[in-house]
Amino acid sequence: MVLMISAVVQESFDLAFRDDLTGLPGRRALNDTLKGLGTNYTLAMVDVDHFKKFNDTHGHDAGDQVLKLVASRLAGVGGGGRAFRYGGEEFTLVFAGVDARSAREAIEQVRVAVADARMQLRNRSQRDGDDHRGQQRRGQGGSGSTVNVTVSIGVADHRAGSTAQAVIKAADKALYAAKAGGRNCVRVHGLRSVSDIVAGKPA
Ligand code: GH3
Ligand code: MG
Ligand code: MG
Repeated sequence: MVLMISAVVQESFDLAFRDDLTGLPGRRALNDTLKGLGTNYTLAMVDVDHFKKFNDTHGHDAGDQVLKLVASRLAGVGGGGRAFRYGGEEFTLVFAGVDARSAREAIEQVRVAVADARMQLRNRSQRDGDDHRGQQRRGQGGSGSTVNVTVSIGVADHRAGSTAQAVIKAADKALYAAKAGGRNCVRVHGLRSVSDIVAGKPA
């Protein structure tokens, strides 16, 4: 009986805190984690590049599969980071006890890990076939084309604001700069990028 109750409690906990599609902890889990952060931490906002176009080109189901792939790469982030699904095609990485300078390398590595990940698509004509043949093809690994996506990442640490919400806002601003800077790159709040320095842009 106790086991049954604890299984039910665990399941409802998972339902409330875990994102259905990707299996990552979701927004509620993120909010809880943000409340418990100490004085030294880094937050990174991750957004899939041109994802609307990906869906338009390959279909929503392929888009969902890519989100799963992105999530699995983000879950493998090093440097003590934890990945959450913020919502839609946006994710958050939380580094507790780590400032932006120290988290930066792990964030850059996870950006590359996403860009390097490949997903096999089944051709639309194959997908439209009957279920039985579709299953056979799935068993064979499919013969469609290979696709990948990239992400842009904005980073800010505890110095960027007095609350975690303010730090998320700063990371979002840095994300906007990463998009404007050509996407598939990382920008850190309060740090000028090398390309901006070379272009002579002010801080
Ligand atoms: P940008 O590079 O500027 O971020 O462009 P974008 O197209 O990624 O940005 P935009 O905000 O215009 O589009 C986000 C898209 O993400 C639109 C929406 O359909 C898609 N999306 C959000 N959540 C999901 C999801 O759970 N599954 C799928 N397949 N698509 C999703
Ligand atoms: Mg977005
Ligand atoms: Mg996007």
